[in-house]
Amino acid sequence: MGSPERIRGVARRVARWKAQGNQLVVVVSAMSGETNRLIALAKDVSPQPDPRELDVMVSTGEQVTIALLAMALKDLGLKAKSYTGGQVKVLTDSTFTKARILDIEGDNIRRDLGQDTVVIVAGFQGMDEAGNITTLGRGGSDTSGVALAAALKADECQIYTDVDGVYTTDPRIVPEARKLERVTFEEMLEMASLGSKVLQIRSVEFAGKYKVKLRVLSSFEEEGKETNGTLITFEEDTQMEQPIISGIAFNRDEAKLTVLGVPDRPGIAYQILGPIADANIDVDVIIQNVGHDGTTDFSFTVPRGEFARARKILDEQIKPHVGARAIEGDNRICKVSAVGVGMRSHPGVASKMFRVLAEEGINIQMISTSEIKISVVVDEKYLELAVRVLHRAFGLDQVAA
Ligand code: ASP
Ligand code: MG
Repeated sequence: MGSPERIRGVARRVARWKAQGNQLVVVVSAMSGETNRLIALAKDVSPQPDPRELDVMVSTGEQVTIALLAMALKDLGLKAKSYTGGQVKVLTDSTFTKARILDIEGDNIRRDLGQDTVVIVAGFQGMDEAGNITTLGRGGSDTSGVALAAALKADECQIYTDVDGVYTTDPRIVPEARKLERVTFEEMLEMASLGSKVLQIRSVEFAGKYKVKLRVLSSFEEEGKETNGTLITFEEDTQMEQPIISGIAFNRDEAKLTVLGVPDRPGIAYQILGPIADANIDVDVIIQNVGHDGTTDFSFTVPRGEFARARKILDEQIKPHVGARAIEGDNRICKVSAVGVGMRSHPGVASKMFRVLAEEGINIQMISTSEIKISVVVDEKYLELAVRVLHRAFGLDQVAA
């Protein structure tokens, strides 16, 4: 929704879907850059804006675009009606700026759809029990769309974004990255949580929970030349053999902390990570070494923005309390992950990953695995090299035509 011309383009696209006999609910986000502009304005007035008031303010971006799109649709001769999140009763909790959707009533949406009207709903926003305006966190329109699709039992939820699908990795780092025709919901969830920025992670969680058929498409494709984007599938629905690795994800937003020489006894992990959790800091990869002479080392990663706060907690509360020898920190690390449901049935993925990194002289600092992903923490300076060599080693590079 970048400009008046683009809004008219969206209206034409909606009109085409409508002409094919679909009932449509369109969830829109703000005009590009608008949410950033509003947040900056708020911070200009008040360095730490009150969260309730911030939500009152940033939710206006979407209130503008729903009306503009409805106008454009009417000009094309369609029946259209816009609603804010509160008006269609997107009920959320009261966690301002990152509220969670609890329920969507949607009665007026169903009524309008029955009367052949295209319904346009403001994404990113809802209302709490007390009637306060809430927002769902950056990128929250994705979640609004999926939640509405679930509530209305839609056939499909299409998310138009600024990329034309889900790629094997970020094409800005690896130009040979390929667009995936389909990716499983579990892989998408891993990729979203491992740093791929295509969809808000909550929207993927929602889609998984309610089995919403989700498709990621580009909002920039030329009219009449649209591709099918990437379909997010449920693994049990696919008969096809799954590729071993579907993508290489990465995240720069990490920092590592190490507590050296702590007594190796029950309760130590809890004593270290308890205060970190109490401070609401997310912990990601965790490693505890094998004990030696009664002591051990304990490392974990946190979001980079929380590095200073976590370090302070370790220095002031944990080090004296548990009797650690020293605290070390490194905020110049990154995490690189290989994701693929196929690795469940193919051993040797981890060893191949480690070999490829070793051949480039990249030291692995931490490793963490799940059934469908292997992540390594490495020095940030190796990020691009690691992503590139892994992408190639797992056969993800585009085959030159
Ligand atoms: N406008 C909101 C944002 O910029 C929501 C969204 O775009 O999904 O984060
Ligand atoms: Mg968005």
